[in-house]
Amino acid sequence: MPSCLTKNNSLKGLVYRSTGSWYEVRVGEELWHCRIKGKMRLEKLPTTNPIAVGDYVEFQAEAGDEKHGIINRVYPRSNYVLRQSTRQRNHLHLIAANIDQALLVVTLRQPNIKLGFIDRFLLTTAAYDIPTTIVFNKADLYNDDDLAELADIYAIYKKIGYGAILVSAQSGKNLDRFTDLLKDKISLVSGHSGVGKSSLMNAIDARLDLPTSEVSDYSEKGVHTTTFAEMFDLQFGGQLIDTPGIKELGFIHLTPQDVSHNFKEIFQASANCKYKDCRHIGEPQETCAVKTAVAKGDIAMSRYQNYIAIYQDIDEQNQWEQKKGW
Ligand code: GDP
Ligand code: ZN
Repeated sequence: MPSCLTKNNSLKGLVYRSTGSWYEVRVGEELWHCRIKGKMRLEKLPTTNPIAVGDYVEFQAEAGDEKHGIINRVYPRSNYVLRQSTRQRNHLHLIAANIDQALLVVTLRQPNIKLGFIDRFLLTTAAYDIPTTIVFNKADLYNDDDLAELADIYAIYKKIGYGAILVSAQSGKNLDRFTDLLKDKISLVSGHSGVGKSSLMNAIDARLDLPTSEVSDYSEKGVHTTTFAEMFDLQFGGQLIDTPGIKELGFIHLTPQDVSHNFKEIFQASANCKYKDCRHIGEPQETCAVKTAVAKGDIAMSRYQNYIAIYQDIDEQNQWEQKKGW
């Protein structure tokens, strides 16, 4: 971080943790406890919280109170991710800002993945412009069938340009490569509960000491521990943003067109569709380059099916909202 003291005698720091009303801000080696007072000029984001982990802020030290400050400025963000409330779609929470990359941790075993979940996640990070790598954990549990399935999945995602890596927190497989991936970057780590995120992070940096739990602790419905995202320094350089309990990222507003634009290979192929407004769903194959590519096997069937499912989902939701006048 550049010089910590700004022109107007404020301090500049990076937000590591937020409890809603308090923010832990790092300035060099120092940790400050900051809060917001009164009104602050913010980006026009209708979120429930104005500042998130990963934000660079300016604050004034509070007189007499050691290492306490009042935030008066948030620096413009290079990107950010939001979470959407499942009950109230318009209710948005800023999870984190200024992220270099996202790592989606999944596993083929205990609990197994659904490609629909991966595609939904990749759609969101593509729309937020965040490079994403899929991390397959629990390699030690995979049998030959699993490894064959993994090779198919790899082929699908590598072709589109996503990185993928097979690791095991337990056996230590590829943890050196995993460490290289995280080094000197700010990484958002996501995934369903039980996939081994915390075990993985502890395996590459024992100082983190993140709490882990048994898979059997998670009911089918999943645990809903609404905890805040938190940033940690990695001993080999870089930061990790842990997002416990946050499976999916949300949007302020996502149009069906955003879906077509952020399924990368579908967007690429669509340049050759006959009609500009082709949705690649109901149109005949003769005029749709996407459908042709699916038929030829150039675009994976699973990706195409997930595209249709998400597209229709969002289309329906938008029509419903328009009807209600939102
Ligand atoms: P999180 O909810 O994603 O943070 O998952 P945890 O790190 O709490 O791990 C959930 C469970 O998976 C624990 O019982 C871990 O011991 C287990 N686990 C994590 N990584 C591995 C792995 O590489 N192999 C195996 N066999 N189990 C693992
Ligand atoms: Zn088309």
